[in-house]
Amino acid sequence: MTRRLATRVLVIGGGINGTGIARDLALRGVPVVLVERRELGSGTTWASSGMIHGGLRYLQKDPQVTEHSCLDSGAIQRIAPHLVFRIPFLMPVFRDDPLGPELVEIGLEMYDRYVPLKNGRPHTRLTRAQALTLEPALSDRIECAFTLDEWGVDAARLCVANALDAADRGATVLTHTEVVELLRDPSGRVNGARLRDRIRGDEAFVEAELVMNATGPWAPKLARLAGETLRLRPGKGIHLVFERRVSNVAIYAKGVDGRDMFTFPHEQNSMAGTTDDDYYGDLDRIDVTEDDVAYVLQAMERSIPRIREHRVLHAIQGVRPTLFGFGAYEDELSRDYEIVDHGAGGGAPGLYSMTGGKLASYRLMAQDAADRLCGALGVSAPCRTAELPLPGGEAPADLPALAARFRVGLAAAARLAFRHGARARSVLEAGEDAHARGRRVVCACEPVLDAELRHVARSEGLRRLTDCTLRVRLGVGACQGAGCAATAAGVLAEELGWDAARAVREVAELAAARWRAVAPVVAGAQVAAMELHRHVNFGMLGLAEEILP
Ligand SMILES: Cc1cc2nc3c(=O)[nH]c(=O)nc-3n(C[C@H](O)[C@H](O)[C@H](O)COP(=O)(O)OP(=O)(O)OC[C@H]3O[C@@H](n4cnc5c(N)ncnc54)[C@H](O)[C@@H]3O)c2cc1C
Repeated sequence: MTRRLATRVLVIGGGINGTGIARDLALRGVPVVLVERRELGSGTTWASSGMIHGGLRYLQKDPQVTEHSCLDSGAIQRIAPHLVFRIPFLMPVFRDDPLGPELVEIGLEMYDRYVPLKNGRPHTRLTRAQALTLEPALSDRIECAFTLDEWGVDAARLCVANALDAADRGATVLTHTEVVELLRDPSGRVNGARLRDRIRGDEAFVEAELVMNATGPWAPKLARLAGETLRLRPGKGIHLVFERRVSNVAIYAKGVDGRDMFTFPHEQNSMAGTTDDDYYGDLDRIDVTEDDVAYVLQAMERSIPRIREHRVLHAIQGVRPTLFGFGAYEDELSRDYEIVDHGAGGGAPGLYSMTGGKLASYRLMAQDAADRLCGALGVSAPCRTAELPLPGGEAPADLPALAARFRVGLAAAARLAFRHGARARSVLEAGEDAHARGRRVVCACEPVLDAELRHVARSEGLRRLTDCTLRVRLGVGACQGAGCAATAAGVLAEELGWDAARAVREVAELAAARWRAVAPVVAGAQVAAMELHRHVNFGMLGLAEEILP
């Protein structure tokens, strides 16, 4: 029988905005259904740099964006202290830069005004010698350098934490479930949706008083299901991920066209980016081109001359749901956001859309959206998302105690504590009944423990092996899944009741996904090495056909 759900608000899109809105509403006691057609955070959110900062470059044109982002960065640090990390930046100034150190410093002095909001330290000016001592990777052609203090977050885990909290407060969260039709009553009001489960293939209906379209760059497509037009200026952005860290601290770089870019340490890797190009293509197949890669490497090379000696592991790409503007370069477009009440504009009542914005200000944006939805529903409960910790953010985990009690390495315990915060202990407990295999390191690159896989399957609603890439960073290290996919699939098969054929399909899917991420960045002898590696590991499972591009 077709499943039927009834709720007050249907939130569509499990990126940072959808999960943030669902959490906010659930905390106000509003019944919510949240649907995501793939894995939580797998759209633009996963592709972001994960910076929760004000964005120095928005200061001139969009100071309110800088202020909101810094303000919300402070809140995110409070509610999810386990998921954030400090990113000290160096901004080198070269002799041939159009702006000399004095002008750069004026900009930084202005940015310093926002620093207390995000718990940062004001900038300092370093001599050439000081900068090179601090960061030997830096070019010796610099005149001087400035320090800046920023924060990063695991954006995918932030989505999961918001969704988990929403679910803990009564929301229904459905992943790998796509809205394929918006339903309308005889008056034309949007009052629900038809959903398709993309794994099982079955359908369900959800009735809702209000529908929130939080589908990021897909928002125009979703709005069209109700006959509505939304305009965005979608901007493609890519990052290159290097094996291991290429520098001690984050370093600013300039693109050949003068764009600000940077490389920054991220987990045990470094990330470099990003690009921003108008995008008109398929949102489900965003290609990374040779030009993208060459542009990023060229920019990085000026600040870090030996960058090309480092191995690029893979690329990450996504599309920004930037607000529409005509006649401006991509970089000059506003990073502000809008909440559209389609009914108020003479369109489809009952449907709202959120467009634009930044990860860094997601909580404030979600608050604004929830205020609007609650106003329409007659709910007066206030927003509580800035005070109540996200799951895991309640208290710091005691790393040495965890490592000793469960006999796992400190590095593995630290990774768990980063992703799960105070819940790290229950993660390890989940592995205790698995014949002591919970302590086993499944992915040595990260390291990911067997227990963590069991936990995300049992307690976080994980449905696919490929979801592990975002949830626990399985397969994004040096092995790119070749060394861990089969073992991980075995663990998930036990937990989720997969048969052998399903487990093999899941491995093939992960292998194909990782190859799509790797293929644009490998060249020369590395291609042969990667091919050999993949075929030795996956070929043993009889997957050679499936993984060939
Ligand atoms: C390269 C790059 C770097 C960035 N760096 C930063 C940064 O450092 N700091 C910062 O603050 N911001 C950054 N941003 C911006 C930030 O990532 C975005 O503003 C934010 O992630 C948008 O989140 P979202 O939830 O709106 O969209 P998404 O994360 O794309 O979520 C939308 C979700 O909707 C789902 N969906 C679509 N259609 C349907 C459907 N029919 N049914 C169900 N689900 C559906 C999609 O699968 C997707 O998961 C960056 C963006 C890019 C591209």
